Amino acid sequence: DPVAKIAAVGGARHPSIPLPRDLFGPDGHRNSEGLDLSDRGVLARTVAVVNAPLDVRPGADPGTAGRRTDKTDRQIVGEAVSRTRAALPAWAATPVDERAATIERLADLLEEDRDRLMAICVQEARKSIPDAIGEVREAADFCRYYARQARQGLQPIELPGPTGERNTLHLDGRGVWATIAPWNFPLAIFLGQTVAALVTGNTVVAKPAPQTPAIAARAVELAHKAGVPSDALVLVPGGPEIGQALMEDVRIAGVAFTGSTGTAKRIARTLLADDERPIVPLIAETGGINAMIVDSTALPEQVVADVITSAFRSAGQRCSALRLLLVQEDVAEGVLAMLAGAMDTLRVGDPGDPANDVGPVVDRAAYDRLMTFRESVRDRWVKTVDVPAEGLFVPPTLIRLGGIDDLKQEWFGPLLHVATWKAGELSETVRRVNAKGFGLTMGLHSRIARAGEVVEAEARVGNLYVNRSMIGAVVGSQPFGGEGLSGTGPKAGGPHYLYRFVAERAVSVDT
Ligand code: GLU
Repeated sequence: DPVAKIAAVGGARHPSIPLPRDLFGPDGHRNSEGLDLSDRGVLARTVAVVNAPLDVRPGADPGTAGRRTDKTDRQIVGEAVSRTRAALPAWAATPVDERAATIERLADLLEEDRDRLMAICVQEARKSIPDAIGEVREAADFCRYYARQARQGLQPIELPGPTGERNTLHLDGRGVWATIAPWNFPLAIFLGQTVAALVTGNTVVAKPAPQTPAIAARAVELAHKAGVPSDALVLVPGGPEIGQALMEDVRIAGVAFTGSTGTAKRIARTLLADDERPIVPLIAETGGINAMIVDSTALPEQVVADVITSAFRSAGQRCSALRLLLVQEDVAEGVLAMLAGAMDTLRVGDPGDPANDVGPVVDRAAYDRLMTFRESVRDRWVKTVDVPAEGLFVPPTLIRLGGIDDLKQEWFGPLLHVATWKAGELSETVRRVNAKGFGLTMGLHSRIARAGEVVEAEARVGNLYVNRSMIGAVVGSQPFGGEGLSGTGPKAGGPHYLYRFVAERAVSVDT
């Protein structure tokens, strides 16, 4: 029982709350198996069940709390945008301090509801328990951080001018934002994007990933409870068709998206397709071919621990995750032998069991994609590990490359490629990683200060990590996001993020 396990780890406040288990398949954490997410009835029931947590007996009537099933995607989206448009004047006129206080109350509610949120994360997104703890923590951090940034940074600014002229710069909301969240951080990123838009005075139509509607429904419910007007934040669960209808709605004033590079480009094209349409900002945070460079002075034990965390935690399903390990030739054999030994100690299994390090991947499609590729490179396996036969467990696998340039795409799972580089070619190695066009995270392990300077100067990434792991960016300390094919910026959890959500209006008055 995941709730009992979570209670044991985290000290549950609501251990008796039943989970919507009947919607998630017999083993409790396989939402995509046998659950047709394109079926709006299922989505409606999921939303209804999560909204009515005290009545989730199998067969319970979801009543009218869920979505109507007889509407087209365009109608659902159109109504959501209309509602958020109508809610805009009152929410935009709410003083920023009050909006910030509302978002801080949401952080409190997230913390109070932590165990239930974690349980849904484990069930629906197959998060491990440590990852589920981190997920709720990060969601609350985003709320508190953006609330503070808004209080400090959104006040009108008086600007200089000649005597008799008063110049003021106002930072206002832009209108209705669409937020589109990924399944791998279905609470933290979903809420991070959404509260950033809300606290800056926008209203929001939020689309969760099709794999994770329930956690999003719970988050929205808590936001409303915290005081966000119900029409200022409207959830539209669904798949790509809902997303496409949302992007085609010309009333949208901005888009915050986290997901694949391909989808980000499709969104950009849709937003620009219509000549009549206003030009609106797109914030896109996408993937990466993230490399870690290890030189001959690095501490092998630390390298191995950080590789294990960076490549295999969350089953490699983070956009920050290590994909390409680049070890200096002279030490490669020793480092890889030690890494192989450490991989043998990884425990792969049920994500609801706190003893396991690596859980399953998110759904059957991801599993099939990763396993087919992994099988196709069998002759290049350096190391792989045993996993339970039942379930969507992709074995953590180390794959040897002929050279750095051979890896051309991101594999979003626990598959780590490895190549070597020669002494004296550090700069060249960084440049070849840059040449892939992505720019999200990079790691360096070295005890030579000069190596750090070289990599810092050459690397074209949003987040460079030296002598540590490459995942788990902390809100307010490691603003997160990339460049090039990895995204547009600004960086989530950083001091400039909110400014992309506002319209700057200068008013000059002759007094
Ligand atoms: N912020 C997360 C990290 O640093 C990754 C976010 C993502 O995967 O989208 O690990």
